[in-house]
Amino acid sequence: MDDHFFDSQPTDLSFRRDLSGDCRQLILMRWGVGSLVLIATAFAELVLEVNLPWRALAATGLVILGVNLYLALAARPLAALERQPRLRRARQFVILQILFDWVAMIVTLHLTGGITSPVLPFILVHGVVVAILLSSWMPYAYLAVTIAILTGLSLLERSGALPHWYVIPALPLYLHRRPLYIAAQLIFIAITSSVVVYLTAAIMNRLVERERRVTTLLHTANTVSSIFSLDEVLDRLARSAAQALNVRAASIRLLDETGDNLTLAAAYGLSQNYVDKGPVDATGSQFSGEVLEGHPVIIDEVETDSRLQYQQQIAEEGIRSIVAVPIIGRGKPVGILRAYSDQPHRFSEDDADFILAIASQGAIAVENAMAYETLYQSDIDRAQFVRMVTHELRSPVGGAQSLLRTLLRGMAGELTGQQQDLLGRLEIRLDMLLDLINDLLALAESKTVGQREPLKRIPLQPVLGDVIKSMQVEADSKKVSLTYDAPFEIFAVLATEEGLVRVFRNLIGNAIKYTPSGGSVTVRVVERPSGAVISVADTGIGIPKEEISLLWNDFFRASNARRSKVGGTGLGLSIVKQLIDHFGGAISVHSTEGEGATFKVTLQIASPADEAA
Ligand code: ADP
Repeated sequence: MDDHFFDSQPTDLSFRRDLSGDCRQLILMRWGVGSLVLIATAFAELVLEVNLPWRALAATGLVILGVNLYLALAARPLAALERQPRLRRARQFVILQILFDWVAMIVTLHLTGGITSPVLPFILVHGVVVAILLSSWMPYAYLAVTIAILTGLSLLERSGALPHWYVIPALPLYLHRRPLYIAAQLIFIAITSSVVVYLTAAIMNRLVERERRVTTLLHTANTVSSIFSLDEVLDRLARSAAQALNVRAASIRLLDETGDNLTLAAAYGLSQNYVDKGPVDATGSQFSGEVLEGHPVIIDEVETDSRLQYQQQIAEEGIRSIVAVPIIGRGKPVGILRAYSDQPHRFSEDDADFILAIASQGAIAVENAMAYETLYQSDIDRAQFVRMVTHELRSPVGGAQSLLRTLLRGMAGELTGQQQDLLGRLEIRLDMLLDLINDLLALAESKTVGQREPLKRIPLQPVLGDVIKSMQVEADSKKVSLTYDAPFEIFAVLATEEGLVRVFRNLIGNAIKYTPSGGSVTVRVVERPSGAVISVADTGIGIPKEEISLLWNDFFRASNARRSKVGGTGLGLSIVKQLIDHFGGAISVHSTEGEGATFKVTLQIASPADEAA
């Protein structure tokens, strides 16, 4: 059943038509029809002096208006409903209105002369309305019943079982009793209304098909631009292609590095058996070869088309026809998108053009993914290089530092005051250089090794307690009070122990470093619905508002920190951010320059199942 309007299948594409607008329009039209019945009755009775059952007709007009008033009031809450219930209610409402109009039409027909009624052509108008609003088979069923009732009505009037009204005085008496006239009228009405309904339904089908395709293209364009994972994008494209063409299945195959094989990248609606049938030979299969040359290819009948490599398996899968188009990326084909139907001769040139448009979205996805992959790889390569260089630099600088200390301690002979001063300054510079090397190394590691290290359940408070203990000396020597406040119950968070230590050494180290003597640093742990929240608050120099968003960039140091002569590399927070991202957590900063800064880290509280996963 091609029930595109009232499709009951749940789908993520909004192909269902919203009939609530049509409901309103029907109600508007009915005001006109009701009034017309009243006016025409008055005119026929008073001006034309036609012998009509005017009371019954006026009552019909009033009933139409009365029911319409009820419908108008009942339709009001429709607009406020959510999409799904609204679609359902609007559909019920439209069916109810069509049924009512139908009864009103039959009654009016009877009261205005049955088979000789001048309002007989109204059946056509109503047929058009039904064909616009209901799915393709419903208007025909409606027509059949209408013609059957009209036939019944004519026969009852003919036999005298129902009264007949002579509305058009010019017509011969007893015309409504002539079998030939009755048959001719019925046949004429049946043929014209069927043609009108058929044409309207065909136009509506085409419009809905277009709407379905435009919606799909919009969806796929959105998907491609919002999802980075190639697999996911290709899966969605395959699904969209099948759903939009209203066929059973679709697949995407991409060329491998050798360019000889097409391997399956996404499949929708195909059995596992079929999916596992192996790669398609890009050079050996005539079908794929033609597609890879850049043209869409349609296979109308799988069983008789020898261009297919896996003809037997395709036939066993129940597939009868296929349309395939190339996915062209960077000027050359990178893969093939196919849609499969279980009917022969199912695909038209129009279908091929349409999935070509979907395939071009696929090409964008493939290119995006490749560009992303290249960028990601070059970032890793750069980090690898920095790691290697800093690793090599660390030992000579460390060696120079220990030699210098030997000199400074006078172990190589007494130093003059000036020598002591110069070597002392050299030692400070070397300390800074080693800090920079260590930070660079940590950053490079967090981008390479650290990112791949699996996460574990780490008990938060003991790790944090150890970090704070190890930093107490630094705080004391700077006369900064360091306090720690955490709940007794221990939270396990998803992280790596080394990473966690690095994050909090950095944050607490910064807080102490950027807080002048006499100030305080408070570390607090609280449980929130979002996870464990660890805040590191200080009463130090703070951060200028406009620079807060730049803190996570490599080498960034705020202007007040640079002016304060406190040393630093600007790499610590960048490392912290990388690690927190890796842990699936979040970090935020609140600060007022001159009053202090608070860094808040949120980490997921881990269950044993998380670690297993
Ligand atoms: P640095 O080695 O310079 O401390 P970070 O990456 O750790 O590098 O920090 C980047 C910048 O963020 C610092 O230079 C400083 O301007 C600012 N910053 C970080 N923590 C604080 C803090 N607790 N108080 C004030 N400024 C801070």
